[in-house]
Amino acid sequence: MKNMNFPYCPQCKSNMAVGELGYNYCQSADCDYIQYNNPTPVVAAIIEYGENNVIVAHNRMWPKGWYGLITGFLEKFEHPDECVLREVKEELGLDAEVIQFIGHYSFKRMNQIIIAYHLRANPNQKILLEDELDDYKVIPFEKAKYWPAGTGYALRDFLVSRGYEPELKPFS
Ligand SMILES: [Zn+2]
Repeated sequence: MKNMNFPYCPQCKSNMAVGELGYNYCQSADCDYIQYNNPTPVVAAIIEYGENNVIVAHNRMWPKGWYGLITGFLEKFEHPDECVLREVKEELGLDAEVIQFIGHYSFKRMNQIIIAYHLRANPNQKILLEDELDDYKVIPFEKAKYWPAGTGYALRDFLVSRGYEPELKPFS
């Protein structure tokens, strides 16, 4: 789905073609439809669990050894502050609270804008993984590493703001 150009116009079914500015234009003279391919907003959660630990999880679709933040798409009309709490509840079974907005990060490969938060989850609740996840780790902040992508930079900035000097772990 990422950056996919429609072959046919969703309004009039004429052919589409990439033109000026890289947008995808309807080729009919009677139609002004343009597919802009705007970035998709995605929330990401840096979840503090217990004292100075972060939760990272492994998606079934990812290569072995890759762990990342909990992320999710906004539902229709949903505010990111609510979305991030819903995603953490759905994917890990944890109730959490938003502590701080961390920042916005570009994830160009997927044409996404990552909206990153620091959350604190209830440490008395057990983690219950949703189907799309098959593993998780609870990592002390001082051992956490970041990765070269939007969510990784969010984790780096969060850790630096807390006085840590995280190492970069490249994708292998
Ligand atoms: Zn059209």
